[in-house]
Amino acid sequence: MTDAAARPLPDEDLSAYPDPSTWDDVVVHDAKDWPRRTERHYALVPTTCFNCEANCGLLAWVDKESGEIAKLEGNPLHPASRGRNCAKGPATINQIKDTERILHPMRRVGKRGEGLWEQVSWDEALADIGGRIGRAFREGRHDEVLYHVGRPGDDSYVERVLHAWGIDGHNSHTNICSSGARFGYAAWMGFDRPSADYANAKVIFLISSHLEAGHYFNPHAQRIMEGRERGAKIVCVDPRLSNTGSIADWWLPAWPGTEPVLLLAIARLLLESGTWDRDFVRRWVNWDTYLRAMHPDVEPDFDNVAPALLADWAAHTPERAAEVCGVDAGAVRAIAEVIGANLGALATHNWRAAGAGNLGGWQTARCLWLLNVLTGSVGTVGGTSPNGWNKFIPVPPRHTEPQGRWNEMTWAPEYPLAHHEMSFLLPHFLREGRGRVDTYFTRVYNPVWTNPDGFSWIEALTDEDLVGCHIALTPTWSETAWFADYVLPMGVAAERHDVASYETHSGRWIGFRQPVLRRYAELTGAPVASTREANPGEVWEENEFWIALSWQIDPDGDLGIRRHFESLDRPGEPMGIDEYYEHLFAHSIPGLPDAAEAEGRSPLEYMRRHGAFAIPGDQYQVHERELTGDELAGTVRGDDGVYRTPGTAGLHDSLDEISGHMPFIGDGSAGVDVEGTPRFGFPTPSRKLELYSETMADWGWPEHATPGWIRSHVHWEDLDLAGAERILIPTFRIPTLIHTRSGNAKWLNEISHRHPLWLHPADAERLGIEVGGLARVTTRIGHFVIATWRTEGIRPGVVACSHHMGRWRLEGDRGNERWSSGVVGLDNDDHRWQLTPREGTRPFASDDPDSGRIWWTDAGVHQNLTFPVQPDPISGMHCWLQRVTITPAEPGDRHGDVHVDTERSADAYREWLALTRPGPGPGGLRRPLWFARPVKPKATAYRAAT
Ligand code: SF4
Repeated sequence: MTDAAARPLPDEDLSAYPDPSTWDDVVVHDAKDWPRRTERHYALVPTTCFNCEANCGLLAWVDKESGEIAKLEGNPLHPASRGRNCAKGPATINQIKDTERILHPMRRVGKRGEGLWEQVSWDEALADIGGRIGRAFREGRHDEVLYHVGRPGDDSYVERVLHAWGIDGHNSHTNICSSGARFGYAAWMGFDRPSADYANAKVIFLISSHLEAGHYFNPHAQRIMEGRERGAKIVCVDPRLSNTGSIADWWLPAWPGTEPVLLLAIARLLLESGTWDRDFVRRWVNWDTYLRAMHPDVEPDFDNVAPALLADWAAHTPERAAEVCGVDAGAVRAIAEVIGANLGALATHNWRAAGAGNLGGWQTARCLWLLNVLTGSVGTVGGTSPNGWNKFIPVPPRHTEPQGRWNEMTWAPEYPLAHHEMSFLLPHFLREGRGRVDTYFTRVYNPVWTNPDGFSWIEALTDEDLVGCHIALTPTWSETAWFADYVLPMGVAAERHDVASYETHSGRWIGFRQPVLRRYAELTGAPVASTREANPGEVWEENEFWIALSWQIDPDGDLGIRRHFESLDRPGEPMGIDEYYEHLFAHSIPGLPDAAEAEGRSPLEYMRRHGAFAIPGDQYQVHERELTGDELAGTVRGDDGVYRTPGTAGLHDSLDEISGHMPFIGDGSAGVDVEGTPRFGFPTPSRKLELYSETMADWGWPEHATPGWIRSHVHWEDLDLAGAERILIPTFRIPTLIHTRSGNAKWLNEISHRHPLWLHPADAERLGIEVGGLARVTTRIGHFVIATWRTEGIRPGVVACSHHMGRWRLEGDRGNERWSSGVVGLDNDDHRWQLTPREGTRPFASDDPDSGRIWWTDAGVHQNLTFPVQPDPISGMHCWLQRVTITPAEPGDRHGDVHVDTERSADAYREWLALTRPGPGPGGLRRPLWFARPVKPKATAYRAAT
């Protein structure tokens, strides 16, 4: 049963939405004018939300009288969100109308960080920045141009730009977000995320507060609830009693970092009781490689697999899990029973949570996926698929060849297996003299606030010898934009173009974000040539910006860059954005041209009217697909059963690899022989699910080649829990805010504007913290002071603080928006830094009367400043959980105080660096060729310099 069949949207639900055929002119009565029946006319323009990663559909209601957007609601035609949104979707209107937003390009005039700015034209900014980058390229300084993205919002555009520029300059935020879990999944199957079929599952196993904080939050949450309505059991592992934990059948508050022990105990019970899918494992797991590597003393016979695994995991009994994880052994047995009774229908997810918190956190994802593998719940109805099966990335027009460079400032030799760039170590790399940055773009990203060790970021960004020019591409002011040379205003959800697709359910779709007022201008017969003509002020969109900037970098075309941004239809002129999407939608989305034709429209017009498209076809059991003659042509079956193209091993540059989200096989393999039939399989070297990872072994980590447990850096048995040490969870999301992007959404701030430290009453008593009292939380590089909240909804020994709040600005009415930020003082004495709150949030005068009604006062605490960088030596993921000491606040301490010593940050960086096992690896490679990575370079770039 497909997702659509599982929950068709009934007609009566659609009555909540105007019929799509009326969207050009929807007539409703003005509620404010009641009881008069005053008609108002609206044009409804679809776009997609830009607040979290889920890319839900939105419908912008454009008031035809004023020509302004009146509100945003859900788009019922969007296959993932199905007309529903979380609070952050409709709050987009706050961001559009925010009186504090940046409306014009700004250039620094004082010292960097001094807060003195002048307004400049886009042409001036483009000429200056383009000239600078062009000079760097002409002088061979390609590695000095870096782009650092927070919210991408698009699947392929920037990758295309960077390939066209010929630089390895992409930096993502992923190593402070999700690399841990991604690595665990990728080690199994090449794909780095799960796509759980919640709606049809019998058991839903979540290692996170997924209903309010998970990836693809609203689309997943609505399907989890559907599964639950149909009787699915929910298991939630989370030290905090989240909304998800509160509705779960089993809430297991395991000690942070011990989750793999719990999962291995369940796996062991399944093997012991014989409630596992032998046939699936026999056909689709590289069990023979496992037996040969780990148990060379036994015959590589399938019957030996279960005994071997039981021997490997002999210690992982339910009783041992109870001891290590602090959970009930009976619950572990009961969960194993219910999973074993529902083979094939286990939907699982682990995203940030344990995977993003702990040293070795990636093993949590590896052990969770083990349960899917053992129960045959891979690609099944009600099971979990690889994300790539439920995601579609179109090939953009003017597809560029991969670039041929390798930038060690982002892909450092110490981290050859890191799942993404080591971007959060940039200040330390700069401080060590590994290089400098000439031109640094931050795009919808706020590393000073979001990353750990923000004061080291301020030190780097204020040093013009280290960072020549910092350009902040951002819809809002931020702590990081304050330290920029240019602040260039970019659009929010209703002001930009993007195409994105995510694994929200079983099926593939693409969503189209579009600038609403530009579209409305087109509908009213007054089209504009550039998005910035229709947006508020001079707010632009990145896609047009990159085209214009690329022309400035290479005005004569001699660098070979300009040609990638020339019109396909009008040679010698810049490519237009409509032209770009016309080609993209007409040529690379299966089924879209036919669907458009059926409506008598072009594919672009179809997408402008629908905002999304569900690609036809079933996406279950993709690995079982038989290879076609064309796919097999030119391949040879190896001894391992894998069909490969001879002569391509290690040097195949696949066009599939556009964005790094889609794994490709570096050895030109097509599939694998399974019992005499060539099948598609998985994008791993064996084309099977890899219980034993030869890559891990070959690259220096043989002890972690199979699912297992790595003791966390915050393991509870290593802490002085009888004293004042505790484990701090600083990462949990709440459903109404999103990182720093929701700061300028007044409705959201009215709902959520405090983040006290969750503290169990028993801990509060032991630590001497009064009810609601202030605590001083000391990390290894400093401390912060925060109000506490006593609650039994957290495991004793663990404290937690939502990461959203603690926004600050340095001037009373400039810098960050005033809906969420407070005024602070920033003092430093060499490497000692102090942030002192001076004023919380308070009413202010503006064109929006609501700004005078702000009643919330607490701007929160910027806790991330006090966290050292803690990169996992394998996955590269920053391990967010902190070993902290909690004491009552001292005389003079104030809520929001932060103290940090960046010399201690540097010490911590060096200690974690010492845990690595640097490359190059086999064949002198910098990284396994088959591993995905963003902006994947040519294979030749993988060879380390000799
Ligand atoms: S879950 Fe909420 S914030 Fe995320 S895309 Fe959907 S509506 Fe927007």
